[in-house]
Amino acid sequence: MRYLLSGAAGFIGSHLCDRLIEKGHEVLAIDNLITGHEENIEHLLSHPQFRFIEHDVCVPLNLQQGIDRVFHLASLASPVDYLAHPIETLESGSTGTRNMLEIAVKNKARFLLTSTSECYGDPLEHPQTESYWGNVNPVGLRSCYDESKRYAEALTMAYHRTYAVRTNIARIFNTYGPRMALNDGRVVPAFIDQALHGMPLTVFGDGSQTRSFCFVSDLADGLLRLSESDERYPVNLGNPVEMTILEFAQEIQSRFGDDVKIEYKPLPSDDPRLRQPDIAKAKRLLGWEPHVSLREGLGVTIDYFRKKVGERELLRLEPRPDQQSGVMAS
Ligand code: UDP
Repeated sequence: MRYLLSGAAGFIGSHLCDRLIEKGHEVLAIDNLITGHEENIEHLLSHPQFRFIEHDVCVPLNLQQGIDRVFHLASLASPVDYLAHPIETLESGSTGTRNMLEIAVKNKARFLLTSTSECYGDPLEHPQTESYWGNVNPVGLRSCYDESKRYAEALTMAYHRTYAVRTNIARIFNTYGPRMALNDGRVVPAFIDQALHGMPLTVFGDGSQTRSFCFVSDLADGLLRLSESDERYPVNLGNPVEMTILEFAQEIQSRFGDDVKIEYKPLPSDDPRLRQPDIAKAKRLLGWEPHVSLREGLGVTIDYFRKKVGERELLRLEPRPDQQSGVMAS
């Protein structure tokens, strides 16, 4: 089958590209590289079944070939990124989603939207089930992300009801793993980067807010299962093992040693106090649940970041051509 993937050079998108190519599908990958990195899909660029187009999902895309499946992942998913680009974030959720849905209609293709646990805002129900409508501040700093995804969900349902597009909506909870950007500000890369540099871990607030971390291979598996299902309403995908951010910082400390200190910083506004997915629906409908423990997933992720940091330091140390001996002007 031929897949169109927006946000293909991003963290989750690139892992999905790998899975689809491994399964023998064709992948047309698009990304405007605002937060994605070509490096994430570099290894696929010469594959005959893979094609990358640098393209902004907010601009209509005229395709010459037919498409069987559309996966719409393009979005700025890290709080640091969407706070820096609030309008682009709203646009990729609204105009971008509409452009991808139009392609699905034209091609009679199935459509998967990657939505978010942010639809629940600062939740008053815990853990969060899909039937909970959320507690989102519509004008707060995070609203550009939360409301764009809520709009994207509504648009997806409207296209399903109006044009009978076969749609799926995944509500993704915190996910981590290799290919996250080291500097994207999310807590997993932030703490690992800090620990690797012997810097204090910046815990926001008193660290009592909770998150549940899902390893990316588990998430990719859930997304692929969901994309084959007939469930039109949102399905939570995430790891239900909940911990406080302070406990997460201590987990990082336990791996790097007591030299790594904790430094408390102000809690950003509207930072959800609790977050834990109820995944009963995904278990029942998709036979899916995460299998990778935090211990195991963090090990792989730390190894990846260690390598990245090493390469970055090497680049910094490598003399530029005009500084190399023999090339320098006398
Ligand atoms: N956080 C933190 N220190 C950091 C980055 C994040 O304490 O350097 C906290 C943040 O306030 C939030 C949690 O970690 O409560 C997860 O933040 P992240 O940005 O990863 O994603 P979110 O779940 O908020 O979308």
